[in-house]
Amino acid sequence: MISQGVRASATCGACGGALALDLGQTLLGTRVEWGTEACCRTCGEAWAECGRGAHSTPEDIRQALLSEHGPTRLRLAAPAPVNRTAVLRALRQAYSRTLTETRALADALAGTGMTGTLVEMERTAAFLRHGGVAVTLTQVRTEALDR
Ligand SMILES: [Zn+2]
Repeated sequence: MISQGVRASATCGACGGALALDLGQTLLGTRVEWGTEACCRTCGEAWAECGRGAHSTPEDIRQALLSEHGPTRLRLAAPAPVNRTAVLRALRQAYSRTLTETRALADALAGTGMTGTLVEMERTAAFLRHGGVAVTLTQVRTEALDR
């Protein structure tokens, strides 16, 4: 199981106090689960929201993860020769896009790489590895997070 989370804060809708948020994504097999847990330190108001689906994570959770941890870059493991058919098949399974869009993803993967959250890229990597395609994942740290 691979997961990534981030703590954030917001304003409590009930009392205006400080709301502590726990946001995250988890990979279970090839399934992505996302969730938000909120708890107010002042009035005790608490709520949680979660869901699952490969590409259904709310954008605010994705952006919070990306800005806290930096994006993860997925690339083909060079210099092994690559079976493009296998790459296209794996990406098609992972993204359910049209062939044209899938080709664009394959081109990106073969070039500078695809980026996304750790959980999203680990999921795509799992499809590619299952199809016999060697890939590498690297964490891209933003300058501000280097130290
Ligand atoms: Zn409150």
